[in-house]
Amino acid sequence: MAQIIDGKVISKQIKDEVKEKVSAYKAQGIEISLAVVLVGNDPASTVYVGNKKKACEYTGINSVSYELPEDTTEAELLELIDKLNNDDKINGILVQLPLPKHIDEDKVIKAISPLKDVDGFHPMSVGALSIGQPGFVSCTPAGIIELIKRSGADIEGKECVVIGRSNIVGKPMALLLLRENGTVTICHSRTKNLKEVCKRADILVVAIGRPKMIDKSYVKDGAVVIDVGIHRGADNKLCGDVDFASVEPVAGAITPVPGGVGPMTIAMLMNNCVNSVAIQKK
Ligand code: NAD
Repeated sequence: MAQIIDGKVISKQIKDEVKEKVSAYKAQGIEISLAVVLVGNDPASTVYVGNKKKACEYTGINSVSYELPEDTTEAELLELIDKLNNDDKINGILVQLPLPKHIDEDKVIKAISPLKDVDGFHPMSVGALSIGQPGFVSCTPAGIIELIKRSGADIEGKECVVIGRSNIVGKPMALLLLRENGTVTICHSRTKNLKEVCKRADILVVAIGRPKMIDKSYVKDGAVVIDVGIHRGADNKLCGDVDFASVEPVAGAITPVPGGVGPMTIAMLMNNCVNSVAIQKK
């Protein structure tokens, strides 16, 4: 029986720690504010933005909301970002993705000041991570490091395998595991012998985007298995990229879906907001 790594409990611990830091800053007269920008009314994005605002309320971070119509032009959005970059009262800028098709996401990500890039998507933030300098780290992989550490597992010297090489999960995940002194392998859709590589892993992070693809035949006995995937099955139930029923009996520890990686992303966004004060001081 594997240890179940509870993302709900760990994300609450992190939000509570953020709340304490926010109130310590308030005692020094420092308020922390996050600008949350939503363009259009995509239902999933509206839910995500609502959850981010709720987490701000919980932790004591001010959320300043910008809800723009679907037909907002790229120039108008860039103008707003420029205004927020230059507003001393705003610590973090979050532009909810995806953006409507007529807006170039890359251009928007690059327009956000790296000092306010709480999503950690700016090329400067990614570059800082890759050369071991301080900066904002993408929230989902940062949350996974917290899940691993707080579940009591060591990363140093361990064989870590990441399946997936996306810019927001796989690549920063591999860099973070490396920063923690893991021996890291990245697998992707062109990897040969995926099973054999995965079987080596003491820590296996799965971010493929394919429901229940990883069963016990990919997992070494006692491995820590982190499931980043999230899908709604035909039975309307949520599941991950890992076949939980197959893997749980052989894993040492495993994250469930839901209630594993999912809740960590917003908690780490709050953590990035509180860290922004120190980053901006430097
Ligand atoms: P993506 O589609 O950008 O990347 C998927 C990666 O998997 C690619 O790098 C690809 O090379 C690799 N891949 C695809 N098929 C493969 C195969 N057969 N064998 C080996 N590798 C294969 O996806 P993403 O944005 O990194 O997200 C991955 C999953 O994580 C999705 O299910 C997504 O919904 C979920 N996700 C969850 C959170 C969260 O907060 N829980 C955040 C981001 C993404």
